[in-house]
Amino acid sequence: MIHFLNLQKINNFYNEEILKRINTIFEKGWYLQGDENHIFNEAFATYCGVKYAVGVANGLDALNLIIKAYGFGSDDEIIVPANTYIASTLAISANGCKPVLVEPDLNTYNINPDLIEQAITPKTKAIMVVHLYGQAVEMEKIWKLAEKYNLKIIEDSAQAHGAMYKGRRVGNLGDASGFSFYPGKNLGCLGDGGAVTTNDEELYLKIKAIANYGSNKKYVNLYKGVNSRLDELQAAVINVKLPHLDEDNNKRRKIANYYIENINNPLIILPKLLHEDMHVWHLFVIRTENRDELQNYLKSNGIQTIIHYPIPIHKQEAYKEWNHLNYPITEKIHKEVLSLPISPVMTEVEVLRVVDVINEYK
Ligand SMILES: *Cc1c(COP(=O)(O)O)cnc(C)c1O
Repeated sequence: MIHFLNLQKINNFYNEEILKRINTIFEKGWYLQGDENHIFNEAFATYCGVKYAVGVANGLDALNLIIKAYGFGSDDEIIVPANTYIASTLAISANGCKPVLVEPDLNTYNINPDLIEQAITPKTKAIMVVHLYGQAVEMEKIWKLAEKYNLKIIEDSAQAHGAMYKGRRVGNLGDASGFSFYPGKNLGCLGDGGAVTTNDEELYLKIKAIANYGSNKKYVNLYKGVNSRLDELQAAVINVKLPHLDEDNNKRRKIANYYIENINNPLIILPKLLHEDMHVWHLFVIRTENRDELQNYLKSNGIQTIIHYPIPIHKQEAYKEWNHLNYPITEKIHKEVLSLPISPVMTEVEVLRVVDVINEYK
């Protein structure tokens, strides 16, 4: 069986080093907002090329905290790609704001920059870009629109740790960015974790406080905050793994390049790579007309695949009020996509096998 993602194998590689660090936490007896968090915040800010990073409980909270810290609320609109993972819109809805869905570009699966301007209204406060499947969004037009209409750019970087656009990493392409360290992400905890990055000192201090009951000083509360902190144990895990992220992403790139060069089945639409640096291949997503049939065929040949995602947000029960709407490109994507196995621990034999089996599909 070729697994879609073998997390056990990925994390076992770091087993000894992680246990050593966890032992140190046992010795110190300090479990929250300690050395591991300080080390991580510094290292992750440096990695992303930003001034500030702050660890939080998960990726959804990271986005939620950014919107909360900006003070966006009811009547405010935030533009977001219609084909994203539902966490992006949930963070907007949780603050009482209205997510305004914009169709993606069928070539990149990222938000189509040419459709954004027509979605801007006097109520628009921000554009949330999502670097979907690991590919950085083409930012040039979006930067211009944000300036023209005085909008914040919030990045959802949960799938794209390390991806670059014009020499800058995601997390440093907008006003603030949310990251997830959910176990399956390119940089993953042994549980939940997340972070916010920004160059805005005021925003950083506010988010840090809001994530800690609204307090930067014990028992002095500036905001009606929440509890969203990164455990020292989880910070220790990603402190071990962060120095290997670029190497891991390069392993993903090698597999993706091999797939692109060697899958030659006319029934399969391969992902388009705009620039090597822009993509960290969190997912390798292909499209085909009879997707479910292909998935069953691969399964019967011992290859596990996943659909990201089977139901678009506007057709979910959770967003009943949108169920009558139609976003044809998004719906086409959800009907046709299939994610092939890709990960830093996939073997060459496995990669060759996936290619052979797909090329034999009729
Ligand atoms: C994973 C993910 C999130 C949410 O991260 P969690 O840590 O699971 O809360 C947000 N946005 C996107 C695009 C994601 O893939």
